[in-house]
Amino acid sequence: MKKVHIKSYGCQMNVYDGQRMADVLGQEGYVETATPDDADLILLNTCHIRERAAHKVYTELGKLRDLKRERKAQGRETTLVVAGCVAQAEGAEIQRRQPAVDLVIGPQTYHRLPALLAQARSGRVVDTELPPEDKFGHLPAPKPAVILARGISAFVTVQEGCDKFCAFCVVPYTRGAEFSRPVAQVIAEVERLAESGVQDVSLLGQNVNAYHGKGPDGVWTLARLMHRIAEVPGITRIRYTTSHPRDMDEELIAAHRDLPQVMPFLHLPVQAGSDRILAAMNRKHTSDEYRRLIDKIRMARPDIALSSDFIVGFPGESDADFEETLRLIADVRFASAYSFKYSPRPGTPAAELAEQIPLAVMDERLHRLQALVEEHRQGFNHAMVGRTVEILIERAGRHPGQLAGKTPYMQAVQIESATHRIGDRVLALIERAGSNSLFGRAVERPDLAA
Ligand code: SAM
Ligand code: SF4
Repeated sequence: MKKVHIKSYGCQMNVYDGQRMADVLGQEGYVETATPDDADLILLNTCHIRERAAHKVYTELGKLRDLKRERKAQGRETTLVVAGCVAQAEGAEIQRRQPAVDLVIGPQTYHRLPALLAQARSGRVVDTELPPEDKFGHLPAPKPAVILARGISAFVTVQEGCDKFCAFCVVPYTRGAEFSRPVAQVIAEVERLAESGVQDVSLLGQNVNAYHGKGPDGVWTLARLMHRIAEVPGITRIRYTTSHPRDMDEELIAAHRDLPQVMPFLHLPVQAGSDRILAAMNRKHTSDEYRRLIDKIRMARPDIALSSDFIVGFPGESDADFEETLRLIADVRFASAYSFKYSPRPGTPAAELAEQIPLAVMDERLHRLQALVEEHRQGFNHAMVGRTVEILIERAGRHPGQLAGKTPYMQAVQIESATHRIGDRVLALIERAGSNSLFGRAVERPDLAA
């Protein structure tokens, strides 16, 4: 039996791509293994969003070259594949820097993996084409046992690429232009997942709320797609990520009010709070427009938990600009957020800007921003104590007798229970908030009482 080890870096879309590549390789007789040590094929599914992420790949490849050499000496072959966004952006450069790599394959061509692997047997191959065919239409469906093993929560990519061209971002270059999967294809995938026990789907896209897929009666929006997914038997929770503020339309906001399956959680990156910086970033909205949008969303769904991404130290960001970001955070009070030091990316307009910010300044700003976000995150989590919320049980907990799941607000919860199982929706009284998890106990469900 041939074994493949897939290591995905970066975003959830890469996790999804990693699974779909495993599906393609499954058809070729490969089974997945959790370590590179016993793998015949090692595939790094890479991320190019920040310099550090791209760097990691070369470090990892150095180690894998040694592994490949050791095995060769023992008469065993290993195939080394680099996929994902670094593959797309750096293509042949990867093979030049690391000759042990057999195949470099971009995120849009991995349906061709079997043919390319065959080709790579007689010489190294690079395929970073952005092909005309839709790869999703050529991917095999995972078997029910494989779906089950991946758990009751699943990712489904519905949209890829981006036409927004934020000044700092490589995505429009690595993932190409915006593309939405047709409605029928997405629904078929969700139905298959649900039939195998998946309850919770996260719809993914670099710009997921710009979704405009071909439907049976014209172009469908993300809101319309979610209404249809909510009708799929067995689907109890729907989320979507990542959204752009400019594409948060009325219909989508209303879905948070009208569809019980749409979870009260929204990741809506704003990046910065200064209008000057937002304009330089080409985000195409002001900080007050973002605040008004948040007000509207909270009007539709008052308990919604909000999350964001922030970049500190974008070129030209002054102390005053940064204070504006802190002010926005204080106004919105996010339940969680990701924050990053600006990283200049080759080929992006911001990398050419003169006023790059010193690392020490970025470090200090990041530290202050993260402290404020953390204060709000802890506040949000502690406010859950004493409340009763529905938990979807996803797996066994840390200790015997514990089960782990998530609240509708995306918080991790551990509950004590000997009677519940994975997949149960349990009402739990939250008794304690730890630094990364809530703790509670199951209570009677009045809606299920006779
Ligand atoms: N499409 C999303 C949006 O509109 O915000 C996010 C896509 S990106 C994969 C995820 C996050 O990485 C961004 O929101 C941004 O905060 C961060 N990011 C992107 N480029 C970056 C850069 N050059 N330096 C630092 N952070 C970056
Ligand atoms: Fe990158 Fe998101 Fe901006 Fe597109 S909208 S360029 S993915 S940050």
